[in-house]
Amino acid sequence: MFNAQARDLEFYTRVMIAVSACGISFGLPFALYHLFWGSLVISAILIPVVALQLAALISLFRRGFNGFAAWSIAIIQTGANIFFIMEVGMMASYWLYASGVANYYILDRRPALLVNVLACLMAVVFAFDDPTYVVRYCAAFAMINIFLYTFAVQLEKKNDELDRMLTIDPLTRVGNRTAMDEALTRVRNLFDRYGTPATVIMIDLDHFKAINDTLGHSEGDKVLCRVADQVQARLRPTDTLFRYGGEEFIVVAENTSLSQASFLAEGIRQLIANHKGDQQQAEADLTVSIGVAQLRDDESTNSMVDRADKALYKAKSMGRNWVCFDGELERDSAEQPAGLSSRQAAG
Ligand code: GH3
Ligand code: MG
Ligand code: MG
Repeated sequence: MFNAQARDLEFYTRVMIAVSACGISFGLPFALYHLFWGSLVISAILIPVVALQLAALISLFRRGFNGFAAWSIAIIQTGANIFFIMEVGMMASYWLYASGVANYYILDRRPALLVNVLACLMAVVFAFDDPTYVVRYCAAFAMINIFLYTFAVQLEKKNDELDRMLTIDPLTRVGNRTAMDEALTRVRNLFDRYGTPATVIMIDLDHFKAINDTLGHSEGDKVLCRVADQVQARLRPTDTLFRYGGEEFIVVAENTSLSQASFLAEGIRQLIANHKGDQQQAEADLTVSIGVAQLRDDESTNSMVDRADKALYKAKSMGRNWVCFDGELERDSAEQPAGLSSRQAAG
């Protein structure tokens, strides 16, 4: 179950802490019992098992979810149970049910199934001597695994769905603010590690309130969706569109300089301005104002977005239907692509 998004890692850390704490609290009394009153051989195995589980638990507290802890706990618990079964016989086989269920909590469903099948085979081959018991035991064990495997598949689907709901704007189907923050973190990391340039293009629909007032709110919604679709279609695979607010969108453009972003932004401006609309004049007249900013060495991505917002404000104050750039544009202006309209300006 652990092939989850980064934001789920906290959840899986908690689940694994619960599983290993459970393993320790059940294993320790048995280890102490066998040390003082029972079999020394069993205690000699159980004490390291409990100690290893404790090490995995500490690593979970210190590092959070990690593959080492997941596999250690699964292998230690399952291995200890197989050892028990070999030592004590079929009577101890029920412990494999407990570790089998725990494996689905801490491993992905396929490795969990594999570990369980191998454990069951080892128990049957090396420790079981009653054929009737083998059949009953294997049937019950298979049933538990089928239940858990099916449940894990459904849970994964549900998680994917929740993940989409968490990151997608329900109206326009483009990414929302949460997804935008993730994209900004990603471009920041690429910039810090490889110096990859990143820009944001902030787009605001001009006089959108008037569209709502003349065509109605639901038509306004359709216009928002149409603009989102048009911008989306204009973008390159490394650009991502997000809905920033009511009628504001942001494009996060990876590996893109200010002059390249200017080309893209001007293309978007023209696309919306030239759209004829279905029938309504108000829709045909729709334009967008755009602000563009490129990430600097010494600033946060929030500060880049703020500068794009300021450039957008400038585009509005110049009468709307303009693309404005953060103040650094002068440096880049010589590179501006030919053939674009002159509705571009430095902020
Ligand atoms: P400006 O050119 O200065 O940007 O003017 P504007 O009218 O676009 O801006 P203003 O901020 O005054 O109004 C934004 C409008 O966007 C008001 C609000 O009702 C509308 N709006 C925000 N979210 C939605 C939405 O989800 N659907 C619809 N239909 N309208 C929305
Ligand atoms: Mg607006
Ligand atoms: Mg606005």
